Amino acid sequence: MQEERVDKLREQAREQAGEQVRVRLAAWWEANARDLPWRFGRTTPWGVLVSEVMSQQTQMSRVVPYWTDWMRAWPDAAALAKASTAEVIAAWGRLGYPRRALRLQECARVVAERYGNTLPDDYDTLLSLPGIGDYTASAVSSFAFGRRVAVIDTNIRRVLSRVLLGVESRGGAATRAERDLADDVLPADTAQSVMWNQSVMELGAVVCTAKKPVCEICPVSACCAFLAAGRPGLGEKRTRPRQRFQGTDRQVRGIVLNALRRRHDDGLTAGLPRADAESLWPDQGQLAACIASLDDDGLIEINEDGSLSLPR
Ligand code: SF4
Repeated sequence: MQEERVDKLREQAREQAGEQVRVRLAAWWEANARDLPWRFGRTTPWGVLVSEVMSQQTQMSRVVPYWTDWMRAWPDAAALAKASTAEVIAAWGRLGYPRRALRLQECARVVAERYGNTLPDDYDTLLSLPGIGDYTASAVSSFAFGRRVAVIDTNIRRVLSRVLLGVESRGGAATRAERDLADDVLPADTAQSVMWNQSVMELGAVVCTAKKPVCEICPVSACCAFLAAGRPGLGEKRTRPRQRFQGTDRQVRGIVLNALRRRHDDGLTAGLPRADAESLWPDQGQLAACIASLDDDGLIEINEDGSLSLPR
């Protein structure tokens, strides 16, 4: 009985804290939200989905020019479905993790063929689409369709954990407790829930960043449990530090793909001669393995004469 009462009191305290934070964040969002082209109802649900896929592992500010060109070339799923794979990979440019581009095109084909070129508006159907995971399905449900659903990404987890629990979110997979917290503090009002998701995520992206939160200008500093506790364990991570980029297979794959993209953009139809490819990277063993893995991933083609091309 006593335990139940304590749980109830905790829940009430969390609700009150959440409401204080919500009011402050809503005012901050109204005045400070970045004017990104897929926000404020200026694009279609498909445009929102494209922005979310591009923004995974890439900063939103870097995504803007790519997204703008992409949506100009392929404004809907049917248009993207018809594009050649080479065009799609070339347009992905230096956004990184180019398999995302192939998955996005697979998704476009399903939306065009199975759903009449209309992006489904419910979480479960979105989740069933190629390349769409929990985060993207919930973000599109909330941001594009105005559904009440808790969106959970790294930024949101970090902000909620710091502000409401006073502890550092230490990365890795989202825990049950983090999911419960996000569900518990999601405003009951649907419109408010959308703004909540967007504003918490935005705060994590531009103010309450992982390593250097700018508490001096933070709109919720007066009610932040983490700041009140002296920011214990700031920046601590459960995951291993990110692997340096220099010399990695990721770098080598990027160099090969960029060489092929340049040829595509220059209108050269012949493949990149193997001898030219071999001059791209000194370690020939690593280069050969990276070329093979790009081929396995469907990102390049190895022609009969050994030259390399983007897939046709
Ligand atoms: S006060 Fe500091 S730690 Fe707390 S939410 Fe704001 S930026 Fe993050």
